[in-house]
Amino acid sequence: MPLLEIRGLETFYGKIKVLHGITIAVTEGQIATVLGSNGAGKTTLLRTISGIVEAEYGQIIFRGQRIERLDTDRIVQAGIAHVPQGRLIFSELTVEENLKLGAYTQRSHDGMETVFSYFPLLKDRLAQYAGTLSGGEQQMLAISRALMSKPKLILLDEPSLGLSPKLVQEIFHILKRLNEDGLTILLVEQNVNLALDICDYAYVLKNGRIFLSGNPEKVRQEELVRESYLGEGKGKYIKRAKIWGRQ
Ligand code: ATP
Repeated sequence: MPLLEIRGLETFYGKIKVLHGITIAVTEGQIATVLGSNGAGKTTLLRTISGIVEAEYGQIIFRGQRIERLDTDRIVQAGIAHVPQGRLIFSELTVEENLKLGAYTQRSHDGMETVFSYFPLLKDRLAQYAGTLSGGEQQMLAISRALMSKPKLILLDEPSLGLSPKLVQEIFHILKRLNEDGLTILLVEQNVNLALDICDYAYVLKNGRIFLSGNPEKVRQEELVRESYLGEGKGKYIKRAKIWGRQ
């Protein structure tokens, strides 16, 4: 049984359907990635899993339990943590306060030492206001805050956004370590090469539908992905518009 299974998920913003019958499975202990162009519905998928946006139809099954009607708090309690796009840390609060807020569903803050074993620099910054951290440090804090809820599954929305290549490497190295230590990851990422390097399984979303899925080798070989995403092939810009463009 997969750790997370989604069947026939449909999500609307008002009357506009954004997700059209998404079916995916995330195996325990693995890294799954969701790729797709701007507006494909990747963020909406993560927001629906974590209960921020309502699932209109379909099922979201986590550790054998239906969760698609649960409140966000209950979903965190069940073991899913979400690191949103743009990090959304509390700038006016200190690093320590941000971390403690991440543990709001727990009775204690005893996850902090574990977090420091992955992100040691945060230990020296506990009293610093989060808004004064660098972009990379803020991303580390956002991931750490999510880890404070001791999740089984972490949803990561574009963790590489706006960071230097060196920092991105550093963060992805830590994500790999977290995964090796047992954390299951569902990763939304614009950096396709990086995502395919790190993942065990990939889904490609197009206009709110799963368009392609498979192991990273298969997805990397797919001509349309190579041409549209990996900068290979002629006339890629024309094709990009044609392949990934909205209907
Ligand atoms: P990006 O890579 O640009 O973040 P995405 O694949 O994550 O894109 P979503 O952010 O999920 O895509 O957006 C999917 C569609 O839903 C887009 O057409 C977007 O304009 C629309 N959308 C997103 N959020 C809302 C909202 N709050 N209200 C109405 N429409 C929305």
